[in-house]
Amino acid sequence: MTGTRIEINLDRIEHNARTLRERYAERGIDITAVTKGVCGDPAIARAIVRGGIRSLGDSRLENLRRMRLAGVDAELMLLRPPRPSRVAQVVALADVSLNTELEVVRLLAAHARAAGRVHGVILMVEGGDLREGIMPRDLPEFVEQVVALKGVRLRGIGTNLVCLNGVIPTDEVMGAFSRLVDNLERDLDMALPLVSGGNSGNHQWVMSTERIGRVNHLRIGEAILLGQESTRRQRIEGLASDAFTVIGEVIEVKDKPSRPRGERALNALGRRPEREDLGTIRRAIVALGEQDVALNALRPRVNARIVGMCSDQLVLHDRGGTLKVGDPVPFDVAYGSLMRAMTSPYMEKRYLRHGEAVAIAPVMAAARV
Ligand SMILES: *Cc1c(COP(=O)(O)O)cnc(C)c1O
Repeated sequence: MTGTRIEINLDRIEHNARTLRERYAERGIDITAVTKGVCGDPAIARAIVRGGIRSLGDSRLENLRRMRLAGVDAELMLLRPPRPSRVAQVVALADVSLNTELEVVRLLAAHARAAGRVHGVILMVEGGDLREGIMPRDLPEFVEQVVALKGVRLRGIGTNLVCLNGVIPTDEVMGAFSRLVDNLERDLDMALPLVSGGNSGNHQWVMSTERIGRVNHLRIGEAILLGQESTRRQRIEGLASDAFTVIGEVIEVKDKPSRPRGERALNALGRRPEREDLGTIRRAIVALGEQDVALNALRPRVNARIVGMCSDQLVLHDRGGTLKVGDPVPFDVAYGSLMRAMTSPYMEKRYLRHGEAVAIAPVMAAARV
C-alpha cells in the first residue's frame, strides 16, 4: 500500500479524446493531442489513440522518445521549436516539428537529407501572445526559403495564443490569422494544407464561432486530459474532468489555532500568507508538497480546505472533522498539479481501465522505500 500516488482513469481519457475528435470533426478541425502535461506517458497516449486521434504532440524530445520506444501508433509532432543541438534527434523521433528560425529549419533539412528522410515543418506565426512565432511581415520570405529546401516539407502554418500572456483567440485575432494564410497562398501561388490555429484556449472559439476561417487543425492537451478549456478554465460539457486523482496520505491530525504566533518572515516558498482568525481548527497534514503538486491547482474531494503547502507537507483545515492519520485524501487536479504529479519521481502512477488497476509505474528506484 502506498499513500502518495496519482490515479489515471484511461477510459475517461479515451472518452474525452473521442468526444472532442467527433465534435471538432463536425467543424472541419483535426486534432493533434498534446501529451506534455503527462510527460508523454505511453499508456495515456494509447488511450488517446484508442479514442481515434492518430497524431500526438509534445514539447520535449524525451517524451516523444518515450512514446516511440513504447511503440505508440501515431504521428509524432514536436511542439517546442527544436534546439539546434538536437536537430538529429528531432529528425529521428518526430515526423513534424513547429519552427520559427530559418537556420534551424536549414539544419533540420540537412540532417533529414543525411538520414534519407523528409521532415515535416509547420511554421509558427506570432499572433499576439508574444511567445514563439515568426513576425507576420517576415513570413512570405521565410516560406519561400523553406519551400526551396530539400529534406523538409512545409506542412502548414500555425499560431499559438493564451500560453504566455493569456491572449484570447477571438474572431478578430483568428480572422487576422486566416487572412494571413490566404494572402500567403495568393502571393506565393501555393497551397498550405495544414492551418493549425492553437490549443485548448481555442475551444470556446471553435465551438461558438461562425467564422472558423482557414483553421483546420488544433493542438489539444488540457481539454482532453482534464475536460476543460483554458481561457476561463470552464468544464467542457460531456467530458470527464476527473480522469486524474492525486492521493496523499495523512501524517498528522491536531487541533491548533488558525493564526500563526510570533514575528513573521517570508515562509519557505517566499510568501507571506494572510490567515483569517477562525479560532481553533482541526488541521490535517498530508504527505504531499510543491515537489509533487501545485498549490493553486489542487482541490480536495473531501470536506477540507487547503491552508498551505511547503515543499513536502500540505496543511488542510479538516472542516468535516473526519480525517485520521493514515487516511488517503483524494484531490482533483488542474493542469499545474497534473504536470507536476506526472513529473514527480516520488509519485506512483496507477492506471485504471474498466474500474481496475491495469498497471502501476512505481516511484523512481532511488525514491522508493
Ligand atoms: C502546450 C502546447 C499546446 C497544447 O496546449 P493545451 O492548452 O494543453 O491544449 C499546443 N501548442 C503548443 C505550441 C504548445 O506548446
